[in-house]
Amino acid sequence: MKFGTKAIHAGVQADESTGAIMTPIYQTSTYVQDGIGNHKGYEYSRTQNPTRHALEKNIAALENGKFGACFGSGLAAIDCVIKMLNPGDEVISTNDLYGGTFRVFKTIFEKYGIKFHFVGMGDVSSVENAVNENTKLIWVETPTNPMMNIIDIQAVSKIAKKSGAMLCVDNTFATPFLQNPLDLGADMVMHSVTKYLGGHSDVVMGALICNDEFLAKEMYRIQNSSGAVTAPMDSFLVLRGIKTLHLRVQRHCENAEKVALFLVDHPKVNNVYWPGFESHPNHTVAKKQMSGFGGMISFDLKGNKTEDAHAILNNVKVFALAESLGGVESLIGHPATMTHASIPKEEREKTGISDSLIRLSVGVEDAEDIIDDLRQAMN
Ligand SMILES: *Cc1c(COP(=O)(O)O)cnc(C)c1O
Repeated sequence: MKFGTKAIHAGVQADESTGAIMTPIYQTSTYVQDGIGNHKGYEYSRTQNPTRHALEKNIAALENGKFGACFGSGLAAIDCVIKMLNPGDEVISTNDLYGGTFRVFKTIFEKYGIKFHFVGMGDVSSVENAVNENTKLIWVETPTNPMMNIIDIQAVSKIAKKSGAMLCVDNTFATPFLQNPLDLGADMVMHSVTKYLGGHSDVVMGALICNDEFLAKEMYRIQNSSGAVTAPMDSFLVLRGIKTLHLRVQRHCENAEKVALFLVDHPKVNNVYWPGFESHPNHTVAKKQMSGFGGMISFDLKGNKTEDAHAILNNVKVFALAESLGGVESLIGHPATMTHASIPKEEREKTGISDSLIRLSVGVEDAEDIIDDLRQAMN
């Protein structure tokens, strides 16, 4: 089955008791058993819920995986992966990581004896150099936030296989429509479903997908034991959102390309960070592993002044000033004073997050309106 068909049909079927075409919201905590131990596969909703189950099967299919699990947030999904490790194990991760991922690694799991190394993965030899006999997990995020760096998943997966470490890819920015890490050699894929999969800025949720039976057992054991599951109503909303994922992401990509081309010619713009440009340092890798360049763009301004960036943010009318990304509406943010404000200025600048850097989540509105809005705000 092709992607669009899977998005609409995978994991879902007409309700057996009524024929309802939409998966019902099974808003229930427990299930009546016909006799002791004689149930229909559902005993308690932390462990299993039919609405969530349909969504888990659907998301797994989108990533070409056999097993899927949904969690109360993207971070709860990340938390589950790290709980597969033991004290003394080491993790190698990208250095321009999503801030919340960095926080859970450093402030929660480090004190349980897990060690984290952060390296620039644009050049994969830095991963190879960081591997030792305790390396149990390599954590990749690509494209990265907010600098849109691209990491070669296939090349990192070879290093992971050689060293016996698991490779997990945070595929939130790319979406399964543009990039399928399991096909490129990853063992596990993670999504902040909150973003493109949900797509309508109305749900916080996370997901994990894998093919290996042993990993899947661990994933479900931790999901059930730690209990950070997602709710039936949220599962329903995301099932509905995913039905248009392929349509939305196509439009996100088209709009983002137009916006990137507008920005690159603008006299006030210094640099545009978008993997679709041939001048992007990892454009070839992006072209190899993604079928489109996504809806996220960052850019900074000549003169590099915070006030100039703030002026644009204060003057936009179609764009909404907000954190998060991946919804149908265009969002604008200023990493240095919003998402990445907790990182010291020097550290920030090392990874390219300058004072005037602006991040756009280009929505699915009409491209002309989006560009007109940026043009007037920049004047
Ligand atoms: C938002 C985000 C997360 C965290 O997901 P939540 O759903 O907010 O918990 C992780 N990784 C990336 C790349 C994200 O954008």
